[in-house]
Amino acid sequence: MRENYEAVIGLEIHAQLKTDSKIFCGCSTRFGDEPDSNTCPVCLGLPGALPVLNSRVIEMATRAALALNLRVNRESIFSRKNYFYPDLPKGYQISQYDRPFSEHGWVEIPTSERNQSGHAVAWSMKQFRITRLHLEEDAGKSLHEGMPDSASKSYVDLNRSGVPLAEIVSEPDFRSSWEAYDYMQYLRRTLIYIGVCDGNMEEGSLRCDANVSVRLRGAERFGTKVELKNLNSFRFLQHALEYEIDRQIEAIEAGEKIVQETRLWNERESKTYCMRSKEEAHDYRYFPEPDLPPLMVSEEMIEELRAGMPELPEARRRRFMEEYGLAADDAAQLTDARPAADYFEAVTRASGNAKSAANWILNELARELKNTGTEIDRSPVTAEELASMIRMIDACTISGKMAKEVLADMYRSGRSAEEVVREMGGGQVSDEAEIRAIIDQAVAANPRQLEQYRAGKAALLGFFVGQVMKASEGRANPQVVNRLLKERLDNTEQGD
Ligand code: ADP
Ligand code: ZN
Ligand code: MG
Repeated sequence: MRENYEAVIGLEIHAQLKTDSKIFCGCSTRFGDEPDSNTCPVCLGLPGALPVLNSRVIEMATRAALALNLRVNRESIFSRKNYFYPDLPKGYQISQYDRPFSEHGWVEIPTSERNQSGHAVAWSMKQFRITRLHLEEDAGKSLHEGMPDSASKSYVDLNRSGVPLAEIVSEPDFRSSWEAYDYMQYLRRTLIYIGVCDGNMEEGSLRCDANVSVRLRGAERFGTKVELKNLNSFRFLQHALEYEIDRQIEAIEAGEKIVQETRLWNERESKTYCMRSKEEAHDYRYFPEPDLPPLMVSEEMIEELRAGMPELPEARRRRFMEEYGLAADDAAQLTDARPAADYFEAVTRASGNAKSAANWILNELARELKNTGTEIDRSPVTAEELASMIRMIDACTISGKMAKEVLADMYRSGRSAEEVVREMGGGQVSDEAEIRAIIDQAVAANPRQLEQYRAGKAALLGFFVGQVMKASEGRANPQVVNRLLKERLDNTEQGD
């Protein structure tokens, strides 16, 4: 039954721009301050107060637009969106409506369905269109105490009132909950990467509303859409969409009509329920904001900001695969956040060994960082020091096995690779005389194996290598051991 249907999903994402001050006044945007402490006549909506646009908002919105391939309108208009709610003291929100900041964007991203255990089935690249990115101010925050009854209390904190938001509206291009999920992940990663949003979903810096409808496969027209509000985690987004798709299919199969409505996701009960129907929908009576001039963005400004854009994570992931020969998974992990990608490239530059750099960062170093709850850009082992350790492995000064201990020590003590290795007794032994002495002992101690080897049992070379390595406590350079052992065993004129 489900296979006969196709889901159609569009996302509206609110991203809080990472400015220090609010969009139309100088108040701080800091999260978690004493309620109402970051307010002034403008963001309190007092009569006669005039908004002035924060230029950092234009800069950040332009960077976001460029990252999402949106066309920035040379001129856009702020409008008043009128409605009443206790957290909106002015009685209207300054937003953008018919002339938004930017339009006609798209992203091309890897996406995949997942199996029962949540593992990706097969990744493929897909394009999704973005309708628009426009600017608006956030409202205050309502806090509810107790159950909704006569004894309960509600509070309003206006610190958030006037915090800048970019609303990013997608076309209805997603065909499954996982496509919507992958897009949202991509958007979050990209906005964090370019430094315009901190991506903190718990603090509400990134919020998502999803519109979803279903239709019979092959049908041309979209079905009636339902809006799911406030999906504030990736898990909620995916769960709510799955539930809602099933609910709509079941309703249609039972001969019911889908009604256009806004629903809320309840994670505890794992279901959506109706918040308001279309009849109760607001008529916002948009009109142009008379206190703000049109927002003008010049060609020069766009080009200047474009020139300052960093390489985006998706492009970087692909380059890491091509330029450094990394596996897709490793490249994805390393480019997930900018500090890790920068760290990797610094280690690679200094060591000349990209594969080894990726391995050490993703395994040993990642474990140490995780255990100590440390971000990679605060790692006690700097990129330069990790590179010098990798060079020591490549020069056979230390073995890979020793290197694990060396790194753990470096991490703990903050000392350089060289210092740690020196203290451990100079690292790997490559000195031929020293190794020859160990080989002589091993050969003398195992006359039977020597006889068998010389009788043609060549595999016993491995036995002798093992004996020598053991005698040297793993410090002998295996390549030198191999070479010298072969010489020694094949030379029958030694009198043994
Ligand atoms: P509204 O007029 O209700 O605001 P819009 O056309 O502006 O609707 O679209 C709002 C969001 O809903 C967009 O993200 C869009 O992609 C999505 N959307 C529109 N129609 C549908 C549909 N039939 N099914 C699913 N999503 C839809
Ligand atoms: Zn203010
Ligand atoms: Mg709309």
